[in-house]
Amino acid sequence: MPEKQTLVMKFGGTSVGSTKALVKVIQIVNDAHAEYPRVVVITSAMSGVTNLLLDSASLAAQGKIDSLASAESTLREKNFAVADLLIKDEKLCEVTKREINDLILSLVDLCKAIAVLGEASPRAMDAVASLGERMSVRLLGAALESAGINVNTIESTEFIVTNAHFQNAHPDFKATTEKVRGILNPLLDEGIIPVTTGFIGATPEGVITTLGRGGSDYSAAIIGSVLPADEVWIWTDVDGIMTTDPRIVPTAKTLSEITYSEIAELAYYGAKVLHPKTIRPVVDAGIGLRICNTLNPTHPGTRLIANAPPDLQARNGQVVKAVTAIRNQRLVTIEGRGMLGVPGVAARAFGAVASTRTSVPLITQASSEQSICFAVPAESATSVINALQAVFASEIEEEDIDRVWMTEDVSIITVVGVGMRHTPGVAGQVFTQLGNSKANVLAIAQGSSEVSISMVVAAADTELAVKALHELIVK
Ligand code: ASP
Ligand code: MG
Repeated sequence: MPEKQTLVMKFGGTSVGSTKALVKVIQIVNDAHAEYPRVVVITSAMSGVTNLLLDSASLAAQGKIDSLASAESTLREKNFAVADLLIKDEKLCEVTKREINDLILSLVDLCKAIAVLGEASPRAMDAVASLGERMSVRLLGAALESAGINVNTIESTEFIVTNAHFQNAHPDFKATTEKVRGILNPLLDEGIIPVTTGFIGATPEGVITTLGRGGSDYSAAIIGSVLPADEVWIWTDVDGIMTTDPRIVPTAKTLSEITYSEIAELAYYGAKVLHPKTIRPVVDAGIGLRICNTLNPTHPGTRLIANAPPDLQARNGQVVKAVTAIRNQRLVTIEGRGMLGVPGVAARAFGAVASTRTSVPLITQASSEQSICFAVPAESATSVINALQAVFASEIEEEDIDRVWMTEDVSIITVVGVGMRHTPGVAGQVFTQLGNSKANVLAIAQGSSEVSISMVVAAADTELAVKALHELIVK
């Protein structure tokens, strides 16, 4: 195997959120550079900062700017405390604090402007949200420099080119590839570590955009895939991907390996470790991905592996690998005998759902065709129902559709494992476990990939179901 050359590392909010964690980050970067000649470092905003920024902007849009002063001082304290401790060079410390202060002042200006307008456009929200990474990158860059590491701090707006879909911008991979290579390669060739912002990009005209909440992971995947890097490591505050939420099952374990298709299901079904968009670019580029813990850096973490043959996984006893729960969902059902054999009902139903900009994590339709049932996030459920009632107004009038209704809050419980494919009896075990636990199943879906089975249960049964299903994971 050729020697590994290029490593992209992304540090999450908690990794850069305290002096203690940043001291670890400095060590991690140092160690990584000893192993890899070319290293790129990407940072999130300090933990809590993006929320604070966006809350300030939302309040400003309602004309409330009273709490702006406290946001301002929180940001100053958070950043300056770290700067004073980690940036030894006095001049560098001053310059860094001044730059961060300028960004804090621009938050104040932006929020005041938003308050005057009485609304925050998506574009303005991105200008505000980007400030978190723009602050933390300066702090981290200077802290690394102070530790004697040869870095170059650079905002990713210089090379992540996106469309103008503010708050959820899509990268232009062609333009981004050219710029990333053009800007980062000369630095990497000289052994300099570029330290850059996650989460943000810019339109071709240079207007700041963001890739969506939690998008720093995606930034790492984009940069890693276009360079291309050999490896992308995501540094977070847990040891890796766990068999389930340890708050529900204290004996949950960290998985040493997980396949791409499993992690895609997990990310989709609510495991918060990795932004779902991260996976595709690294898979397409064949790059190794690892999730590791800044506070426990010697732990091997979780490695993503190419999809191993399922029978092999099954033989290793790895049939069910993880269990997740997405809470706060509602099941929406459209039912009526007049739907039988009528083409286009599903298309119109999902068109109506899409018009509310709601995404649907689970769909089932019984073969009788007398009902379509799907899950939506609880907060969107009412607008989804309204949209459905509008689109089917005449069918409801004619009684071809009897009713459109929703449940109380439910959870989607998903068991994931590539070994389930070609392993008969897994569904049987799943439902036996649930039956024994007395969790009542309201709906079921299995993806045709056979990598996961999802069940909908009442909110109150969530923990019961997760605990019962976790017992299927071979220890
Ligand atoms: N700071 C951004 C957020 O909180 C992006 C990220 O941390 O990944 O959403
Ligand atoms: Mg994150």
